[in-house]
Amino acid sequence: MKHHFGLLKESSQETRLAFLPQEVKKLIEKYEVVIQVEKDYGLRANITDAEYISAGATIETKAHILQKANFILSINDVIEEKDNVTPHTTFIGIYNTLYFSERLEKFKKLQAKVYSLDQLPRTTLAQAMDVRSSLDALSGYKAVLKATELYAKVFPMITTATSTLQPAKVLVLGAGVAGLQAIATAKRLGAIVHAFDVRKAAGEEVRSLGANFIEVEGNTEAKNSGGYAVEQAEDYKQRQQDRINEQLQSTNIVICTANIPGKKAPVLIDENAVQNMPSGSVIIDLAAEQGGNCSLTKNNETITYNSTTILGNSHLSRELSKAASQLLSANYFNFIKHFIEKGEENELIKATQVINQE
Ligand code: NAD
Repeated sequence: MKHHFGLLKESSQETRLAFLPQEVKKLIEKYEVVIQVEKDYGLRANITDAEYISAGATIETKAHILQKANFILSINDVIEEKDNVTPHTTFIGIYNTLYFSERLEKFKKLQAKVYSLDQLPRTTLAQAMDVRSSLDALSGYKAVLKATELYAKVFPMITTATSTLQPAKVLVLGAGVAGLQAIATAKRLGAIVHAFDVRKAAGEEVRSLGANFIEVEGNTEAKNSGGYAVEQAEDYKQRQQDRINEQLQSTNIVICTANIPGKKAPVLIDENAVQNMPSGSVIIDLAAEQGGNCSLTKNNETITYNSTTILGNSHLSRELSKAASQLLSANYFNFIKHFIEKGEENELIKATQVINQE
């Protein structure tokens, strides 16, 4: 059967695109596929319908696409109640259904097949499709730039004829993909950077970027967790908390990235710790959507507590729409290529499958 793909417009807060004209062209040239694109699909990333047409796609209405396509590609869920979806349609997106399991209900009712790319395993083979790495790297970078805007002092040491401005002290919580990118960015700007992670292996990566790794003895690491963190024992949590609290007293900027897949994010900064931070500090909480690493974080809001600014946002890559779309589109292309060539039963494809209804 000819694969028939549909690209549907995202909701208003989404600026990124799942699939760009260059990947449309590549897919059409390589395989026997039809690609239909909803009118004005690319406008938010400044890409016109004409560019999709010259790549080989056709422009259609959402209703038409939902009737014809057997694959819908998007980032978020793009289906509204009024939409008439053909049963057994396959949806490919980034739905984080491990944490937001309620997002599956709608798709179950639609008897759909759903592949959520955030669930790709962290293996060498999956790297080319790894949407989370793409987005986390951009979010980590942008988090530091956000902090520079909200911080009323400077990141590097600056010396003038009369005075010296001291470099900012940055603490990065969680040294996975986003955290490492935040560390690299803050270092380039001349800050003094410390980082903490429950995975011991992260220490080496942190130090290789020229930052200081905060060691806390006695962590738990599970062999079968795919490189991800697992929940820690209570006594370890206490020692970790004491060490972080101590560090926070001299920290100006915190970039929070600590997460455990499918679970509430660990709370590593409480109200008391925020009170003890130097005045004018800034916390950027990328874990906000899963509850945040700071107990005061409000998702999608910027608040001030005492004199500390706390920004909660797990989708900062939306502020880099072109870069994010470029990385995502290449990841989606590689996933589809793998899907077409290896089939639904392939281990990697199955790992992303969150509903399978025939
Ligand atoms: P993530 O987004 O799930 O979490 C971010 C970081 O928070 C992780 O480093 C985690 O260890 C840390 N964390 C969790 N609880 C914590 C706590 N209580 N205190 C401090 N830190 C805490 O992780 P991620 O960025 O997706 O990376 C997870 C792993 O996957 C890493 O080992 C990374 O190197 C690996 N990875 C592999 C590939 C690949 O091979 N394809 C790609 C990307 C990442």
